[in-house]
Amino acid sequence: MKRTYGLELTNNSKVSWAFSLPRSKTCIDATEICKKLCYGRGIRYQSQAQKDKRERNYRTVELLLKNGGPELLAQNLVHLIDSARPRDWLTSKLMKTKPDVPWTLRIHDVGDFYSTDYSRAWQIAVCERPECDFWFYTRSFQTPAVYKSLGELASLPNCQGWLSVDADNLSQGLLALCNQPAARWKLAILQSKDLQLEHLQDAIPEIGKANIINFPYHHGGRNIAAFNQQVVTSCPAIVGDLKLTNDPHTSRPCQLCSYCLPG
Ligand code: SF4
Repeated sequence: MKRTYGLELTNNSKVSWAFSLPRSKTCIDATEICKKLCYGRGIRYQSQAQKDKRERNYRTVELLLKNGGPELLAQNLVHLIDSARPRDWLTSKLMKTKPDVPWTLRIHDVGDFYSTDYSRAWQIAVCERPECDFWFYTRSFQTPAVYKSLGELASLPNCQGWLSVDADNLSQGLLALCNQPAARWKLAILQSKDLQLEHLQDAIPEIGKANIINFPYHHGGRNIAAFNQQVVTSCPAIVGDLKLTNDPHTSRPCQLCSYCLPG
């Protein structure tokens, strides 16, 4: 029998632990390009079990927010975050050694921040677990109240926020970046054939190369030719040697690379 409620993480061969929500209900500022190219449309995200999990997560989030606000949801998110701790976390602390894998969580491998209460719940939960490293990409910067709230989440020392831009929302993304100078936002580019390096060239020195990551569009193991690496860094899991792995006790590409993580 299908379960109606319950929060659950996904263990992803690139990022390790991640939380997902349905795109149709939560990607409030999705662009036409990301709707068309989103890797959440890919086959491994479209199994019935994956779809059910995302819907169940969303229903549960809504139920908790309705009955106890961001604080109640945050309590439940903390349980979820704790379930992502490496198996040797406590012993490695006692022995003063490194755990097998770092304790990390990507907020959303599918889905996005869709309300201020939902964003606030993550803010509380992230504060409660300062030893876990969080990161997220968002296009929800065109909804001012949500973006304001996300600025607080992105300002936490153990959470890195990335504004996701493509050819459709590049100027809005750059404006949003200027509007929150105090927050620690960085810029994530979806490089599709519609976006040329010239569109970014003025902005790159302003933002700083280290604060930008480029994701050349890829599909079926092939990617479009990445922008010049001297000018902008492209994700090594797409253009480099970092291999995906399903072993939960081995660091995943994002944990090895750590470019997008806080710090
Ligand atoms: S740049 Fe590194 S951390 Fe960021 S998505 Fe690619 S592999 Fe992961």
